[in-house]
Amino acid sequence: MKVLIGGKTLPVVITRKKMKNITLRVSKDGEIRVSCPHYAASAEIERLIYSNEAWILDQQLRRQKENEINREGVNGPVVYWLGEKKYVRYLPAKRDSLFIEGDILTFFLKEESDERIEKTFRKAAAKTLLDLCEERRGEWDRKICRDHYLKEPEISIRYMTSKWGVCYPQKAKIVLSTRLIHYPLECMEYVLLHEYVHFLVPNHSRTFYDTVRRHMPDYAFRKKLLK
Ligand SMILES: [Zn+2]
Repeated sequence: MKVLIGGKTLPVVITRKKMKNITLRVSKDGEIRVSCPHYAASAEIERLIYSNEAWILDQQLRRQKENEINREGVNGPVVYWLGEKKYVRYLPAKRDSLFIEGDILTFFLKEESDERIEKTFRKAAAKTLLDLCEERRGEWDRKICRDHYLKEPEISIRYMTSKWGVCYPQKAKIVLSTRLIHYPLECMEYVLLHEYVHFLVPNHSRTFYDTVRRHMPDYAFRKKLLK
């Protein structure tokens, strides 16, 4: 079944079982789910959904926010690391560090405080991102810098909330946001190239994106993942 909620056509997952009433809920992913008796008519289910439209929209917004918080922070039970879901656990240790194995992300902490967790996470994220940048920069150093007689940039990682990347062409510097660690590697690769291309085109004009596309034909898909 499909319904029109908040101007969008959304699927409804219906589970029929031995029960008396129809119940409605919104799943963690924002999906509309209905449980109902075997004999419940579609019209009846639809009526229940439409009379709860405002409630559904509110629930979906809440779920979306919860998911966003889990992506941003590390205090939730789950964190996204390079686009993969990791379950977080905390263990006492002499020194603060972060260790990832399979789908478990372990914080080893001298004491469990938000401040320490945040610092440890950002340090590990910055190191991982920087190593990945160093592995990938060669092509852009060659095609963008050397071929245009430009200095190869110094790349650093910093915690930034309003931007994914910044570049300073005068100083030959590129800074990427630590928050890229939550997204698939393709996203970081795109932001890195984006900043390199700014050495050639300072604005976001058509020429800019044409240049990005020439080096990375699927850039639009990567860019969309960051939204
Ligand atoms: Zn830009």
